[in-house]
Amino acid sequence: MKKHNFSAGPSVLPNEVLFEASKSIIELDNIGLSLIEISHRSKEFISIMEEATERVLEITKLKNKGYKAIFVQGGASMQFLMAAYNLLENKGAYINTGTWSSKAIKEAKLLGEVNEIASSADKNFNYIPKKYKIPVDAQYLHITTNNTIFGTQYKTFPKSPIPLIADMSSDIFSREIDFSKFDLFYAGAQKNIGPAGVTLVVIKEEILNRVSRNIPSMLDYSNYIQAGSMSNTPPVFAIYTTLLNLRWIEKNGGLKEIEKLNTAKAKLIYDEIDRNTCFEGFSDLNDRSIMNATFTLKNEKRKNEFDQIWMKNNINGLNGHRSVGGYRASIYNALKVESVEELIRCMKKFEKN
Ligand SMILES: *Cc1c(COP(=O)(O)O)cnc(C)c1O
Repeated sequence: MKKHNFSAGPSVLPNEVLFEASKSIIELDNIGLSLIEISHRSKEFISIMEEATERVLEITKLKNKGYKAIFVQGGASMQFLMAAYNLLENKGAYINTGTWSSKAIKEAKLLGEVNEIASSADKNFNYIPKKYKIPVDAQYLHITTNNTIFGTQYKTFPKSPIPLIADMSSDIFSREIDFSKFDLFYAGAQKNIGPAGVTLVVIKEEILNRVSRNIPSMLDYSNYIQAGSMSNTPPVFAIYTTLLNLRWIEKNGGLKEIEKLNTAKAKLIYDEIDRNTCFEGFSDLNDRSIMNATFTLKNEKRKNEFDQIWMKNNINGLNGHRSVGGYRASIYNALKVESVEELIRCMKKFEKN
């Protein structure tokens, strides 16, 4: 029996997606060959790539709006550098909401000035800063829409007079948002899209070619756009699995329906955290993430006791990140409501003991 997988990443994917993906390793769509033993320039793979980018633009409602979707390797971490490489001429503005934003800032500093216009470091990143001034002379504002480690999430986005770029690794396709507010967003696939090994980047083309530096081909967004993400061999299996997941999202009613399910799951878990006398939520009530619910024990000495309960009940991946401690329930798109209900039963059982 499969476990209830609350892992923060790589994380749970829909069973039917895993099933289809695994079939393709043996043989893709009755072509007599495995997906991973055919040329990426074969008509079969080109059609996978085209459908994947097409569906991304459909789901985000960015079709015919000057945007391109590309697939890049190197993880979201590579995008910390790549975004700056392509867009930062002399200054980038950043809002620091945790570990991942801090890493983005570190990379951007290699290329120019970084103006950290706001930070929630003063309270161990348990909230999203609301007050800041966006410098109009910076080339862009960078935010992290969902802070996987701390469990905070932007509910509204900055009204930015300069291009807005976002790391959406852990909440992409989890809710209906106006993607056209962003000029560039990226997401490592392994949280809510597919397996590790590929990163989705969506770019408004008009923001490119504004910097004076020479950009190495493998870091150049324009190169990926021109070559349809195939200037070298793309990670075919990760892209195919991503496509299967995009189909799954559309089959399940698109982002509108996915968001309903996700907010319902999040409400269940937060209601229990707030009700249960043994636990405490970590993040600010207004900024609570619908993807990663962070909470701690009121009495840390009882940690082992609670751990025994959830582990015995087939739950995986509940331990919090070391910078927060306690627990983190990652409740990505593919996690079923039954899994959340099982966790809540464990929390109630622990309270009773
Ligand atoms: C996991 C994560 C990353 C790092 O992703 P990699 O693909 O491992 O580089 C970056 N940002 C956020 C918000 C994440 O959750």
